[in-house]
Amino acid sequence: MSGIDNPAITVGEMKAHGVQKVWAVCELCGKRWLVPVEFLPASTSLATIAELIICPNCGDRSVMASPASLGRV
Ligand SMILES: [Zn+2]
Repeated sequence: MSGIDNPAITVGEMKAHGVQKVWAVCELCGKRWLVPVEFLPASTSLATIAELIICPNCGDRSVMASPASLGRV
């Protein structure tokens, strides 16, 4: 387990892994899109990002987020 999918991982830690975007997946409609996170404070956790994201397709907040690692999209 790399630890990069840990919901407690922070923006700062993701940046250290070269990750500047996260994949967001809407649990309601299934929409999947990339969200840039490099502008967020380094202490922002992946779980917090998931809470902040709203689906642009259906407006639902049931969105999962996972780091968009390089070469692992
Ligand atoms: Zn949706």
